[in-house]
Amino acid sequence: MKQGGKLIIFSAPSGSGKTTIVRHLLAQPELNLAFSVSATSRECRGEEKEGNHYYFMTLSEFKSHIKNDDFLEWEEVYRDNFYGTLKSEVERLWAEGKNVIFDIDVAGGLRIKKKYPEVTLAVFVKPPSVDELKIRLKKRSTESEEKINMRIAKASVELATAPQFDKIIKNYNLEEALKEAHTMVADYIGVTPSFEKDKPTK
Ligand code: 5GP
Repeated sequence: MKQGGKLIIFSAPSGSGKTTIVRHLLAQPELNLAFSVSATSRECRGEEKEGNHYYFMTLSEFKSHIKNDDFLEWEEVYRDNFYGTLKSEVERLWAEGKNVIFDIDVAGGLRIKKKYPEVTLAVFVKPPSVDELKIRLKKRSTESEEKINMRIAKASVELATAPQFDKIIKNYNLEEALKEAHTMVADYIGVTPSFEKDKPTK
């Protein structure tokens, strides 16, 4: 793959708030970020749209992409629910001159970091506790009890990988976590975060 901008990875257990953080960063023009839309074999949920949240595909379509070596990384995140980053997606965004931001699982995040260590910032978002995760997932109420339990079981395993990331953000207070993430990514890319520029000069 021909390299372009930086790769910014946000990984965390489901319900940690990483999607909210990623959305906030995408809204900051000085970061020049574009979202890497993943492919998945899971069913489309609620408000999600093809090509916007995910490229939805059948399990057999997904498997044929694996066979063709089309993925930069892929994982069977939950049983029979495959998720992966298509090489073509990152190439497309790099060709547009963008830095690419990922909302992907812990194993996938670390895999990309290993492939492109010199251009990757890998951030782990830590929830206050597993109990708090449970509450957040139930509040979201987009999934069955069984699926929520599956996500909780995986969360404990994922939390143990946090030290392998470049940075850890504790998402105990959302406003603080958003600011910390903004500063961290701006630093890595080498730009001044917009909230600093907006400060009145003395
Ligand atoms: P959800 O079903 O809630 O959208 O996503 C489930 C998990 O899969 C989340 O942790 C999400 O970050 C992760 N995920 C989404 N896209 C990818 C991907 O392309 N690769 C990997 N490894 N994980 C992904």
